[in-house]
Amino acid sequence: MDLGISGKRALVCASSKGLGRGCAEALAEAGCTLVMNARGSEALESAAADIRAAHGVEVVTVAADIVDPDGRARVLEAAGQVDILVTNAGGPPPGIWSDWDRQDFLDALDGSMLTPIALMQALMPAMISRGWGRVVNITSRSVKSPLLNLGLSNSARAGLTGFVAGTSRQVADKGVIINNLLPGVHDTDRIGQLDRVTSEREGISMEEARRRGEARIPAGRYGRADEFGKMCAFLCSAHAGYIVGQNIVLDGGETFATI
Ligand code: NAP
Repeated sequence: MDLGISGKRALVCASSKGLGRGCAEALAEAGCTLVMNARGSEALESAAADIRAAHGVEVVTVAADIVDPDGRARVLEAAGQVDILVTNAGGPPPGIWSDWDRQDFLDALDGSMLTPIALMQALMPAMISRGWGRVVNITSRSVKSPLLNLGLSNSARAGLTGFVAGTSRQVADKGVIINNLLPGVHDTDRIGQLDRVTSEREGISMEEARRRGEARIPAGRYGRADEFGKMCAFLCSAHAGYIVGQNIVLDGGETFATI
């Protein structure tokens, strides 16, 4: 299927690895030029080189912390006007309600709610004036069903979800389409870290932690960044103009719900 976005310019935040990289790859495959970002430059440059070689598209890189206002300003300056925005950053650390103080909550809100909102506020006015734009926020299935060891994520991502629920309906008639993608367990560095926490807490091997994790998922496996990226590219496509303010769960069926 031609996604109808060849030549569009996409900013994909936090995209040197994992889910962000999967989105960058799929958008490049669809013919988009890219602005890619991550804090570490080595993995970022390597990912950008791979994508240029595989898809022949222009890729601009900005090594910066997207959560830090100065870093975000550098990314926005390099990005200029973009047609497509994919927001992403590292998730809050695991823990439970009694672990955190006010600063921990503020940090989680900064990374998982206020940063994507700031990016949308910066980039959507130009999308609106051109009459076309796409925003995909990478959130988490914790928005639909709380993850008991990720209370900061449950809390902060709920705030972003509320913002998108209203705002997506205020900009859809201007051609700007906002949706959220909610990953369940995907095979990335982040999940390796969470498996490590489980293995240490339960006194089991990493392999056993993963086996137990996969056994909880009806699809019987962890998800892959490339299949996540293809869904992201579809939501950014010319064909997604009637999908507004949705929270699409990609979790192999792990969240039990009828609708
Ligand atoms: P990952 O494999 O650890 O990759 C994270 C990517 O983001 C890396 O490229 C990292 O590069 C970059 N990054 C992290 N913090 C950044 C920042 N402040 N500024 C700029 N770049 C940053 O993580 P992932 O699994 O793809 O997860 C992505 C998001 O999805 C996270 O918020 C995570 O909580 C959420 N999520 C993931 C899963 C899953 O199963 N993987 C499930 C639910 C939710 P640098 O470190 O060099 O900056």
